[in-house]
Amino acid sequence: MSVLIKGGTVVTATGTTTADVLVEGETVSALLAPGTAGEADTVIDATGKYVLPGGIDVHTHLEMPFGGTFSADDFETGTRAAAWGGTTSVIDFAVQPKGESLLATLDNWHAKADGKTAIDYGFHMIVSDVNEQTLKEMDACVDAGVNSFKMFMAYPGVFYATDGEILQAMHKAADNGGMIMMHAENGIAIDQLVVRALGRGETDPVHHGLTRPAELEGEATSRAITLAKVTGAPLYIVHLSSTPALDAVTAARDTGQNVFAETCPQYLFLSLDDLARPDFEGAKYVCSPPLRPIEHQAALWRGLRGNDLSIVSTDHCPFCFVGQKELGRGDFSKIPNGMPGIEHRMDLMYQGVLAGHLPLTRFVEVTSTTPARMFGLYPRKGTVAPGSDADIVVYDPSASQTLSVQTHHMNVDYSAYEGMEITGKVSTVLSRGRVIIDGGEYHGSAGHGRFLERELCQYLS
Ligand SMILES: [Zn+2]
Repeated sequence: MSVLIKGGTVVTATGTTTADVLVEGETVSALLAPGTAGEADTVIDATGKYVLPGGIDVHTHLEMPFGGTFSADDFETGTRAAAWGGTTSVIDFAVQPKGESLLATLDNWHAKADGKTAIDYGFHMIVSDVNEQTLKEMDACVDAGVNSFKMFMAYPGVFYATDGEILQAMHKAADNGGMIMMHAENGIAIDQLVVRALGRGETDPVHHGLTRPAELEGEATSRAITLAKVTGAPLYIVHLSSTPALDAVTAARDTGQNVFAETCPQYLFLSLDDLARPDFEGAKYVCSPPLRPIEHQAALWRGLRGNDLSIVSTDHCPFCFVGQKELGRGDFSKIPNGMPGIEHRMDLMYQGVLAGHLPLTRFVEVTSTTPARMFGLYPRKGTVAPGSDADIVVYDPSASQTLSVQTHHMNVDYSAYEGMEITGKVSTVLSRGRVIIDGGEYHGSAGHGRFLERELCQYLS
């Protein structure tokens, strides 16, 4: 089967060019001068549109267990929604329960995803139980193409790791080439602020934000960076949300340390004001780290432009308002932490281009190319070039749309961006050469997606 995408402007991290893209089988076979290609089985007219490498969302929580319930998108609905939004690969987090082995955890996550996904997928491993067996199994995970390990300085009693446990895992990663990913918030201090707030009768969702101040993200980020420096491990800060944390990352990068960070659209487009919405509506915006006062946004955009923030992921972890978010009525600390977003990352980041925050090439870099290189998928993923997987998005930069729960494809009963009018829209999506979105319809299927065994991070020497 061959597909010819003609008349479009091909955008990669390195530049834009007018070219026709020929896809044969699952990969791109050539970029050709416009009009010079021969016949193809399928021809897609991309005149006036951008031809982009498919988005790569490196931070998702599909079917994630949380307090007796699960995040509302599973691997089928979540990856289908991702495809609608122009994302063609996800890296999801397998979650080690305390007392279980990493390899058993990995088997479980394979069982959840196998035969379900619309697009290709990989895994990171959440390490919540550091012991001799776990440390040994980290090597086996690396061999199995799962070479990034997330740890938590937040959530005492659940995922929380002590500095000593973090140090042990970092030593292991420094040895085996793995990457330590860190949720950097000082959870021990935060828990005390939560106790004080609840004791004062402060139970509304906004107090989720007020009890997790940015300084405690900055402190934890600095501490993680110091531990990484001592052990020689590379470090990737997940969902960075605030100026103090960004300052710590910037300072470390200025010294040449292998420290990287991502942010998420919710920190660029939403704020503490949303968390303060009345009548418990703020619960829709509860995630950790929390949405910040609006002043932080400008710094995050600058960080993204200058590469101290390298990637935009979603931290997609949807919980329905009815029945799930409502568990925290009367006690904000019981609101499930997480927001939906897997479908809107590309569209929202394109708004950053229109607003002048990012050049078009940088938009592609932070949503696709750097994710691919950071997590060992490049050049198979993350670019449009001969030999690369034909994961391609034809994007209409002049279409307009209104984000809404009425029209989104995520399995969740609200939109965090309800009513937001935006410019730009995905028109066609290919996953490994197969057209899965076109003409406003989904043509994909569960089980098309394949597991991605990843190489090591490509930014380390
Ligand atoms: Zn997360």
